[in-house]
Amino acid sequence: AAKAAGKNQAYVFTPRLRIEQAGRSSLTEGLRHAVARDELEVRYQPVVDLDSGEMLAVEALLRWHPVGGLVMPDRFIPVAEDTGLIIPIGAHVLQRACADARPWYERHGVAVHVNISGHQLRRPDVVDTVLEALHSSGLPGEALVLEITETALLATGRDEAAPAIAHLATLREHGIRAAIDDFGTGYSSLSYLRDLPVDIVKIDGAFTRIAAETGEEARRRRALAGAIVDLCASLDLTAVAEQVETQEEAEALRALGCPQGQGYLFGRPVPREEIDGLLDSATVASSVLRGTGGPRQ
Ligand code: C2E
Ligand code: MG
Ligand code: MG
Ligand code: MG
Repeated sequence: AAKAAGKNQAYVFTPRLRIEQAGRSSLTEGLRHAVARDELEVRYQPVVDLDSGEMLAVEALLRWHPVGGLVMPDRFIPVAEDTGLIIPIGAHVLQRACADARPWYERHGVAVHVNISGHQLRRPDVVDTVLEALHSSGLPGEALVLEITETALLATGRDEAAPAIAHLATLREHGIRAAIDDFGTGYSSLSYLRDLPVDIVKIDGAFTRIAAETGEEARRRRALAGAIVDLCASLDLTAVAEQVETQEEAEALRALGCPQGQGYLFGRPVPREEIDGLLDSATVASSVLRGTGGPRQ
């Protein structure tokens, strides 16, 4: 038995290692063709006014459908970043999202948020890429928000952060707004918010989770969430709470004075047509407040 087990080990470990390596290189290979093969889908998740439930914006969230599968962005975005494929993929998302959002903005004033990675933002051609997406779609700059994580903006150190910050500043001159994504997970220095060219702060879901809990520890953490909300207000930054899943969380966030929220309570990331449907129905405000999000997707 020991001999068999020893033999098996070779089979257990070697192929798994190969599969993981193949996994990554076949992901890369597949991603290389994803745009041309039309395998990338942009879904949209509502961002709502926490008081009225009204949809104010949508966030574009990428899905990859290779033959016979669905791959989530947490899996393929890092590969796309490492291989440089994030550049054509990111440009594609911008084009798609701006084109989809134009009627939403024109008819309902609904803006679109697009995630961009640090690699994209550091490149000098990012300004042209973004302006081209606006130009070809006819979407005004005011309707576009670029989301960038604080780690992507700051973790690389001053020399690399400087161009990214400069590019954001240039884009803001065209009316485009910028959001810090997943705020509170990275450097968490409240003071730098004052110095960055941003308009919106998306507060990480960790702070939404604690907002409805009870107990002394929760009370302290809720105080921190409240401090972030207050700081945003005093700096004229719009706070958006991420990952709001329950009515209790929405109420706790409202009580802290957080103006906007996003999460499964209000709506899942859905295909473009479903946003059309939501916006056309007069009951959107009450339905999102009641939390009629569909199955997770
Ligand atoms: P993110 O920008 O922070 O996006 C929010 C994530 O939270 C999304 O995951 C969304 O589906 C999820 N979410 C929304 N509401 C809830 C909720 O109530 N509860 C929970 N547990 N989760 C919720 P998703 O779509 O898997 O995207 C993951 C990340 O991938 C994004 O995080 C973003 O960093 C990145 N990403 C997605 N699309 C793109 C893209 O086009 N370009 C780039 N560079 N990154 C992207
Ligand atoms: Mg985001
Ligand atoms: Mg986020
Ligand atoms: Mg995230």
